[in-house]
Order: sequence, then C-alpha cells, then structure tokens
Amino acid sequence: MKSFLAPLIACLAMATTVLAAWPINDICPVDAKAARPIYRVKTADGFVAFCCMDCLTSYEKSPGKYPVKKKDEQK
Ligand SMILES: [Zn+2]
Repeated sequence: MKSFLAPLIACLAMATTVLAAWPINDICPVDAKAARPIYRVKTADGFVAFCCMDCLTSYEKSPGKYPVKKKDEQK
C-alpha cells in the first residue's frame, strides 16, 4: 500500500508547488504587455511575471517603480 501511495503524494505535492509558483499578474508591470510565466520573480505578494527578461531585470533594479496589477484587480 505504501509503495502505491508514495508516488501519488509526490504528485500532489508537485501540483501544489506549481500552483503556488503561478504569477499573481498576467500583464507585465513594466511595459503592460502580456506577461509570460517563465519570466517571473518572487516578491512579498507572490510571483510576478514579465513579458521578457529585460523587464524582469528592470523590475528587480527598482521594484517600487512598477506597481503590479494583480489578476483579481483587473476585472
Ligand atoms: Zn515587459
């Protein structure tokens, strides 16, 4: 029974990690283009996504300059 449950629990743990790592925004805070989850950085609010590496770098240099629009606030 244990040998059957272990991979299942591992799967659930991985799914939870992926959801937790999902960005809080879907618009790039730097230039307002569509953000791609592969370019993301962890902040106090969660992961913030950007459209490209350049935007991510700009944000990391001065996070206060680019307010992040969260998904729920865009409705
Ligand atoms: Zn951008």
